[in-house]
Amino acid sequence: MNWMKNNLRYNRGSAAAKDLLEQNGFDNLLDFPLDLFASGLGATVIEKELLNSDGRIIFGKKHTIIEINEEIEFEQKKRFTLAHEIGHLVLHKGIEIHNDNESTTSWFNNKEKQARNGRVEYEANQFASELLIPSLLFIERQEGKKFSPQLLRDLAVYFKVSITAIAFKYFQLGDHPICLFHSHNKKVSYWMWPDNYPHYIIDRTRLTPPEDSVAMEFFEKGKIYSKHQSKQQIWKSTWFDLKSSQSDTDFNFYEYCIVSNAYNSVLSVVWEE
Ligand SMILES: [Zn+2]
Repeated sequence: MNWMKNNLRYNRGSAAAKDLLEQNGFDNLLDFPLDLFASGLGATVIEKELLNSDGRIIFGKKHTIIEINEEIEFEQKKRFTLAHEIGHLVLHKGIEIHNDNESTTSWFNNKEKQARNGRVEYEANQFASELLIPSLLFIERQEGKKFSPQLLRDLAVYFKVSITAIAFKYFQLGDHPICLFHSHNKKVSYWMWPDNYPHYIIDRTRLTPPEDSVAMEFFEKGKIYSKHQSKQQIWKSTWFDLKSSQSDTDFNFYEYCIVSNAYNSVLSVVWEE
């Protein structure tokens, strides 16, 4: 059964979010203001100008304050940042003031960064993901639907989160196996593939994306495909090892790039049909 999936295995962050929703009588927070939810938990949310920071939490003796950068361009990102801070509020009471930015609220950091930021950031992100995209509801919403970039976009709108957050959730819980490759400044920094994936990914840490990848088209030519063209066919050998007994024409692989111009980064969603 779907909900028995491996990826639903226990992790502290999402378990805490699930418990919190349940204790407060919510199935989800799709129609409930997140700042009100935070204040119900005892934190005051303030939007203000923040330098080099998307959000932060300040534990005082009596009051806890969550500050969110008012200049965050996308509402979905504001939501995720606030959910991340609520994660700290619930899970990490009393941690020192720290600033959250692209490097702590991103799923796709390189490994050294993850080690440095440690478990705390990982848990806060897992918490945020479950709070905003409850797993059971997510599974239900995507069930029986063919995987496509449009499906990810539809889910992102429904859950009011970024496509990146949805892509990560889909990787964990979606019906169709997908791989994720994150590239930053023309270097591949991180990738993920499902358990038991039948194709082997060549190690590209700190190397440029493959010459014939859609990600490279962005870095080299600034090419960003329109919605209708965002599903691009690629060769198996673009991202995977092609065995000598195999031919590229035997496979149907596709790449969909989620581009962040501001950070010069690309998340490539790669799948086989
Ligand atoms: Zn954080």
